[in-house]
Amino acid sequence: PRNQTLQLNDGNTIPQLGFGVWQVDADVAEDVVSQALKIGYRHIDTAKIYGNEEGVGRAIANSGIPREELFITTKLWNDDQGYESTLEAMDKSLERLGLDYVDLYLIHWSQPENGKYLDTWKAFQEIKASGKARSIGVSNFTEKALQDVLDTGTVPAAHQIELHPYFNQQRMRDMDAQHDIVTEAWSPLGQGKADLQDETIGRIAEAHGATPAQVIIAWHLAIGNVVFPKSVTPERIQENWDAQDVTLSPEEIEQITGLTRDDGRIGPDPADFND
Ligand code: NAD
Repeated sequence: PRNQTLQLNDGNTIPQLGFGVWQVDADVAEDVVSQALKIGYRHIDTAKIYGNEEGVGRAIANSGIPREELFITTKLWNDDQGYESTLEAMDKSLERLGLDYVDLYLIHWSQPENGKYLDTWKAFQEIKASGKARSIGVSNFTEKALQDVLDTGTVPAAHQIELHPYFNQQRMRDMDAQHDIVTEAWSPLGQGKADLQDETIGRIAEAHGATPAQVIIAWHLAIGNVVFPKSVTPERIQENWDAQDVTLSPEEIEQITGLTRDDGRIGPDPADFND
């Protein structure tokens, strides 16, 4: 099935397969987002820190696709945390994107030692109330930071975390699910490194006449993650989209889930990342 959406806990829906643009220059972003939209992607994941909101915005403007058919996520960078600074940062992101609203606004990192995520979350609630973000959520939150946010009574719609076969985040996925928070998988392909070379994934790919990247994306979709693989290569942007046609058996899904490793993390640990 193509273009599947998931239900968010605030009543909105989110396309399960999207397109990520970390480490893509603004001018390249305009070009590759345009290609992705032509292929059929409707969900784009960017962030202030990626420096390409303008390029993403130009691609959206030039696409001719009605705004309501698109799902655009951006993220608040760490040095903008705090009540007033968050409200200002949202306005600046919207300006760069050339949009009246984003579909999802995320606190990029919890930054537990800086102690500002609750003030920031208060501003996020204000941003949702004003309609500048249809949904609000968090990214890279520790269990404690997520619990603190839950205790405010406003449950994040989504939690975006590093998640790929070698680092499957079962514990955090369970905590998210318990609160009806959709888990979004960042670096879903493990940044195109070890996960893609895995023997089990290679064997499953061969059995399906698919590529390892497609099998990994199919696994994310099957276990209920939102996923937005990044590529600047046209063939791969198409290949990743076509992963929606790969249906894994329950046994294959279990085998891939079993690949997780204690040393599978690639990016920073949210607990230790305070700038
Ligand atoms: P990814 O796991 O999507 O891997 C991307 C890399 O995999 C590409 O650069 C390419 O080398 C390779 N690749 C892509 N498609 C391929 C294919 N079909 N065949 C072979 N190789 C392929 O890595 P990512 O960019 O880190 O993560 C995806 C998105 O997640 C980002 O663009 C961004 O939107 C988001 N993200 C968020 C955070 C966060 O802190 N919230 C952090 C990192 C990434």
